[in-house]
Amino acid sequence: MRAVILGGGIAAVFTAYFLRERGFDVVGVGGEASYPLVSLVLTTSMPHREDIELALRSLEIWKKFVNPKEVISVDILPRWVDLSRLRGVSYEVVDKVDGVRLAADEVAVLTRDYLIPVRDVVSRLRRELGFSNSYGLLKVEGRRAVVVADGGRIEGDVVVLAAGYKNSILAGEAGVRLPLAPYECYAVLLVTGRKARRYSIGDYVLGWYGRPGPPLLYIAGDGCGRVGEGPPPNYQRRLANLVSQRLGAAIPLYLKVGYCEVGPHGGPLYGKHPELENLYVIGGFNGYGSMVGPALAERLAELMAGRAREDGFRLEKYLGARVFDPCDVAERHDWGAVLLRNAYKHNE
Ligand SMILES: Cc1cc2nc3c(=O)[nH]c(=O)nc-3n(C[C@H](O)[C@H](O)[C@H](O)COP(=O)(O)OP(=O)(O)OC[C@H]3O[C@@H](n4cnc5c(N)ncnc54)[C@H](O)[C@@H]3O)c2cc1C
Repeated sequence: MRAVILGGGIAAVFTAYFLRERGFDVVGVGGEASYPLVSLVLTTSMPHREDIELALRSLEIWKKFVNPKEVISVDILPRWVDLSRLRGVSYEVVDKVDGVRLAADEVAVLTRDYLIPVRDVVSRLRRELGFSNSYGLLKVEGRRAVVVADGGRIEGDVVVLAAGYKNSILAGEAGVRLPLAPYECYAVLLVTGRKARRYSIGDYVLGWYGRPGPPLLYIAGDGCGRVGEGPPPNYQRRLANLVSQRLGAAIPLYLKVGYCEVGPHGGPLYGKHPELENLYVIGGFNGYGSMVGPALAERLAELMAGRAREDGFRLEKYLGARVFDPCDVAERHDWGAVLLRNAYKHNE
């Protein structure tokens, strides 16, 4: 069985990896390997049990390739928030964290996060699995999907679309609608005090998140923008101001614009497209691709090998969704959205 994979990030290389384990011949058309040199954060502190399971499985998979560095995870929440949603995660609630300013009506929830050198692993797998750096297009001929790249057609018994924020664009150009939407997100590199660099922080009161960066530096971000819009005016200064309220002086050095995509449920999806005989899709990893990516790629490979499982991420569940604005969707991994929504309900 020959699988042609369009895309070259976490989704694509792990799908190829698990398909090869199941006896498929894989052909990867991967574009550029686009990860930054810094590690991505894998956390298990998330509000949905299914996401925690995926993160734990992904961590096991990453550990086959690298030894992730552990950091203290600090989630800052209002004191009145109902923490029973933290079921299944080993955590500690504290009033004080060395080097982090908390107000009297706030608590910090401490867990453990892992820094994953995603670029190293993805580059290695791309090499080992023979991915090309070509950019391809998706075409539909009759009821079958085909990839076109380097001026030729690349046919497979199956085609996997795994091109990150380009998924819905490539599918749309081929006349296939997907319940995925691309968006912009921003990260700022800052100079902060030494203590801050021990922590991966999710500040659900002020609304930003951050993690240790290269030596002496910290990386922070928030928010969502429409593709092509660019960050709001004064973004770096505004973010540095939020960070400094927690960590003391924070000097912004550099702003990076990145791209993600999300499904209508604020999360990822995978599965077979029912309108085509041979098209599979995996994507919508939004801000937590290292948590869900490898584990979902494994589930997709199982599905393609004929061993499907029911879960909340299957593509067919969302095909009927209306067109949505990615910046109106609360990301599933984000405690803030879930806890605050619950609190409002509780107070109504
Ligand atoms: C600033 C920023 C910070 C982030 N921090 C974290 C974090 O700390 N932890 C975390 O878990 N996640 C984080 N994320 C999210 C994470 O990067 C994504 O969830 C993840 O990269 C998505 O993986 P993917 O494989 O679906 O897509 P991508 O990583 O976008 O990869 C898509 C791949 O497809 C290729 N491609 C695109 N078009 C084509 C084409 N036409 N033909 C062939 N190939 C094509 C691209 O070249 C690329 O290699 C962050 C994202 C950003 C932008």
